[in-house]
Amino acid sequence: MSLVPGTLMKAQILTTPRPVEEHPLAYSEVPPPEPKADEVLLKVEACGVCRTDLHVVEGELTPRKEGIIPGHQVVGVIVASGTNCRKHSIGTRVGVPWLHRTCGICEYCTRGQENLCERAEFTGYTANGGYAEYVVAPEAFVYRIPQQFASIDAAPLLCAGIIGFRSLRLSNLRRGDVLGIYGFGAAGHVAIQVARHWGIRVMVSTREPRHQKLAQDLGAEWVGGAYDSPPVALHAAIIFAPAGELVPAALAVLRKAGTLVLGGIHMSAIPSFSYDLLYHERVVRSVANNTRQDGEDFLQVAAEIPIRTETQIFALQDANKALQALKHDGIRGAAVLKVGSQ
Ligand SMILES: [Zn+2]
Ligand SMILES: [Zn+2]
Repeated sequence: MSLVPGTLMKAQILTTPRPVEEHPLAYSEVPPPEPKADEVLLKVEACGVCRTDLHVVEGELTPRKEGIIPGHQVVGVIVASGTNCRKHSIGTRVGVPWLHRTCGICEYCTRGQENLCERAEFTGYTANGGYAEYVVAPEAFVYRIPQQFASIDAAPLLCAGIIGFRSLRLSNLRRGDVLGIYGFGAAGHVAIQVARHWGIRVMVSTREPRHQKLAQDLGAEWVGGAYDSPPVALHAAIIFAPAGELVPAALAVLRKAGTLVLGGIHMSAIPSFSYDLLYHERVVRSVANNTRQDGEDFLQVAAEIPIRTETQIFALQDANKALQALKHDGIRGAAVLKVGSQ
């Protein structure tokens, strides 16, 4: 360990899940974690703030670990590693995503669907995350961060980016096809850049004027309100907003055999709708987590393009404030906590 024994680290710890307006995260000093044999210890530089963090902090996701430190888009430098670590050397800058660890032996892990692992651990939910100065993660589940991204800009790629990428992959689009994106936050603003890179036409529905402006800046062919119909029928649509009412609205503008991908971990109830909206082989599917391959493939594409992330930076101590802003659609692009000095 390169840390001085007895040194404490700053961390945001979830006390009792409750509305963010009531400041559920306590800015505290705790002993830094120690890496196990297969884990690396990172000095955190940046941690993205994701809507899932909001679901954890407010309790929409059932609490799995008491006093959890949230944050699953963590960029940091390896400062120590366990005795079995061989892949990354000390000093390497890596990212820790939501998928913290899988069992490797369940029926999903052995079928190439590790994102659905029965015993998966999740960063910032079942294992402590990156709203802290230090974090540990299994070496096999961290990604090397491409050189050209600053840590702040890389953080939103690790969840919003990867999930946006997996959502796009599952939407079965071809070059020249038309994609609708509903909700234009952190994931949407990355997904549109990959879609444009692949020659896909993008229509964006979102209620916030500044999100509409960002969508336009990033190459959306049309932007409108959350329930406005795009001018052309869609080959696929991705809903990033956690609003179930959008499902029938998006199905109504989807072509035959089109795919509707639901990109969130949590969504309000989906209202009942006529079978006509689904008939003609339309498909509705969710996206759950990602495989390590998705992450590796995405970071490679992200570096090629290269993806430009729009970030709004908050200090670690202002995590409650960042989550409040996210809750009320007050973030242009992605919110990121800056941790330590870089
Ligand atoms: Zn498994
Ligand atoms: Zn996330």
